[in-house]
Amino acid sequence: MKTGGPEHAVGIPKSQPHAVIECPQEIPCDPCVEACPHGAIRKEGSIASIPVLDEELCQGCGECIPACPGLAIFLVDSCYSEDCALVGLPHEMLPMPVAGERVRLLDRCGREVGVGTVTEVRLRGAYDRTAVVYVAVPRGLEDVVRAVAVLPPDDHYVCRCEEVTRQMIERAVEDGATTVDAVKRLTRAGMGLCQGRTCRRLVSAIIAEKTGKPLEEILPATTRPPLRPLPLDVICRGDDEL
Ligand code: SF4
Ligand code: SF4
Repeated sequence: MKTGGPEHAVGIPKSQPHAVIECPQEIPCDPCVEACPHGAIRKEGSIASIPVLDEELCQGCGECIPACPGLAIFLVDSCYSEDCALVGLPHEMLPMPVAGERVRLLDRCGREVGVGTVTEVRLRGAYDRTAVVYVAVPRGLEDVVRAVAVLPPDDHYVCRCEEVTRQMIERAVEDGATTVDAVKRLTRAGMGLCQGRTCRRLVSAIIAEKTGKPLEEILPATTRPPLRPLPLDVICRGDDEL
């Protein structure tokens, strides 16, 4: 029996697919408990305690993965094939990978650690905004890989701050995002340090191109002050000009 958190998750036996819960904070939250159809996750004491996984009861079904609002549950099958392990990951970013696609493998800090192949993408019931992406990874990386990123080799960045590419924006438009704000919400384009000063016109142009609308009809992103980074003492002094 293991409790949540990465430091505990690593020691789980690896003979069968199983959930790995990396929830280190004591917070009042328990959708994982409710989501498990096999009663394999429970909270001991209060709702704020760290979830406990009963590995004997876990069937590796992955139902708990999209239910966790903290994206803190993963599935690991260390014996997937001779060379590869399988990792199931919650994924809420666009573009959505597809089965058979090669993807970049990222660790818990977002560092690239290798390349894997997506075997399946599942969207379950009410959790239609949180996909579970199953990816075959080189053996030994199953306890390292915790996210994937799609970047086709012939693509290029539109939003450099948030590393959002043209194809990511095109897919967002195809998914129904027809304003700069909608694209921003789906891809994070324009949410970086420059606050969209570099990319918002390019995003508008891509939306216009994909939808066939005149550029002037594309709604711009909403802007909020400050329009450029300011030292805190300027804000405190209330200076009108720099
Ligand atoms: S993988 Fe399935 S059986 Fe295991 S804890 Fe999650 S919901 Fe329960
Ligand atoms: S649902 Fe996720 S965040 Fe909430 S207690 Fe369970 S593992 Fe932790």
